[in-house]
Amino acid sequence: MKSSVEREQLVNTLNYYEFDVLVIGGGITGAGIALDAVTRGMSVALVEMQDFAAGTSSRSTKLVHGGLRYLKQLEVKMVADVGKEREIVYENAVHVTEPIWMLLPFHKKGTFGPLTTSAGLKMYDYLAGVKKDERRLMLSDQETLEKEPLIKSKGLLGGGYYVEYRTDDARLTIEVIKKAMEKGAVCLNYAKARSFIYDDHNQVIGAEIVDTVSNKRISIHAKKVVNATGPWVDGVRALDAIENNKKLKLTKGVHIVIDQSVFPLKQAVYFDTPDKRMVFAIPRDGKTYVGTTDTFFEGDIRHPVATPEDVDYLIEAIHSMFPLVHVTSHQVESTWAGVRPLIYEDGKNPSEISRKDEVWQSEAGLFTIAGGKLTGYRKMAETIVDKISKQLGDEKYGPCVTKHLTLSGGDIGGSKQWEAFLTQKEQMALAYGLTGLEGRKLAKMYGTNVDKVFQYAQILSTITSSLPLALLAQIYYAVHEEMAYSPVDFLVRRTGMLYFDIKHFTEYKEEVVNVMKQLLHYSDEKIIVFNKQLEILLGEATLKESRD
Ligand SMILES: Cc1cc2nc3c(=O)[nH]c(=O)nc-3n(C[C@H](O)[C@H](O)[C@H](O)COP(=O)(O)OP(=O)(O)OC[C@H]3O[C@@H](n4cnc5c(N)ncnc54)[C@H](O)[C@@H]3O)c2cc1C
Repeated sequence: MKSSVEREQLVNTLNYYEFDVLVIGGGITGAGIALDAVTRGMSVALVEMQDFAAGTSSRSTKLVHGGLRYLKQLEVKMVADVGKEREIVYENAVHVTEPIWMLLPFHKKGTFGPLTTSAGLKMYDYLAGVKKDERRLMLSDQETLEKEPLIKSKGLLGGGYYVEYRTDDARLTIEVIKKAMEKGAVCLNYAKARSFIYDDHNQVIGAEIVDTVSNKRISIHAKKVVNATGPWVDGVRALDAIENNKKLKLTKGVHIVIDQSVFPLKQAVYFDTPDKRMVFAIPRDGKTYVGTTDTFFEGDIRHPVATPEDVDYLIEAIHSMFPLVHVTSHQVESTWAGVRPLIYEDGKNPSEISRKDEVWQSEAGLFTIAGGKLTGYRKMAETIVDKISKQLGDEKYGPCVTKHLTLSGGDIGGSKQWEAFLTQKEQMALAYGLTGLEGRKLAKMYGTNVDKVFQYAQILSTITSSLPLALLAQIYYAVHEEMAYSPVDFLVRRTGMLYFDIKHFTEYKEEVVNVMKQLLHYSDEKIIVFNKQLEILLGEATLKESRD
């Protein structure tokens, strides 16, 4: 991937060439399309108006999952398609995705009973082609409590035990973008599509972009243009001269993060809420996070926030399933909220609207893709790039090759090599001035790219800094190899610190700004803006505003 320091070169390239495909939107959907298209031999440009993954793709439940609950809505094909993708996503990026056993407890009068759980999970295994040692187990009430003693014992009948995958959505998106760039795609963050360019026959042949870092205008010409802007899809389509009838319905989902000392969950659980929805509680890095809510949303898509009502709803759900846990909103360390870009279906409530994806093309030739799941990004990309390939002339381009294409950092040799890889990097780290534990943590985050992070650590080991060497090396890596431009890019989407390590976020944020200032030569005005951004984000995530 390019460095944020080399933006100007990227801008010039975008201005200069005519591309086969221009993708608007750098969430997981746009990233997947860029990777699929470039690896078939197409020339590809991608623009993202914020940072990569700053939209919904850093605000999900962070699971690569088939959507078990959609079986209840008889969305069998979607569950089958997405379910099968889980292992592919995992094997191609072992460093960002890991299998976890999920517990689905069932109580008297709950959503699922013993028979429906058993049948549902069996069907899930079958549809998703789950391998033998990961197929569902059915547990008695006692066995369920052994797995997770905090679960409500009253009325407990047993539990289903099955495998899902935990991921870091923003890092997954960034590893896809990095791979696409490695293969030749030209991707730029902080570049907003403002209008479309048309030929004499009213066909879209590109877009006018503004680079919001330099305020330069860029005209990108492309044979095919794809609108992959998630919740912004309707806004971007409105820029197209000819519209069509499909509309999005946005719903908001909130997650809360609680320290393990308050909610010592040891096992991921998928459980009923009092109003008969289902939410996840997932242990991660010394914290437990719980979500999600699902409510219609009409606010500012850039800044969806958790309201006190959202937080109370999730706390009530925790209390009803884990009666021994006494958590208050003051103990919620951080939150995040995301907006689902769902295809409008008249008369349905938020949780009933299908999560399936759809692709459509306007009369002016603009492709739009919306709906879907993080998990299904590769398949969604395949579907739309198949259509593009057909229109560009199939014979010129190869078939989709992403099924067995490792993402950036994923060349570990598959999941079987993972533990050996971590052990090796743990030992290697010592030679670069890092501890074994730091080396292991970095290897888990960056996969095979950890070698570059180690090299930065070695170069920086003689510098005096109030930041730990590992963190300093991560900043250098993020700026030089992952196009992090603002401190928020680093603290939220490159490291997830805002959500899962609020203590260090607060402790180090000022120094992170200083280091990035040296690397990226921020003006004084910019620093004021960035500091303000950090304060607002911290306030939103920690519910400071609503508690005060
Ligand atoms: C609360 C919640 C939980 C979820 N949990 C899961 C889960 O656990 N597993 C799962 O598989 N899926 C999950 N999903 C679904 C998944 O997160 C989304 O389907 C996916 O992230 C959508 O990605 P996207 O790229 O389409 O949209 P986004 O990630 O929103 O990307 C669109 C991008 O387009 C950019 N953009 C907009 N306008 C312009 C413009 N004019 N010019 C340039 N760029 C522009 C935006 O800045 C944005 O970054 C969840 C969703 C939510 C809301």
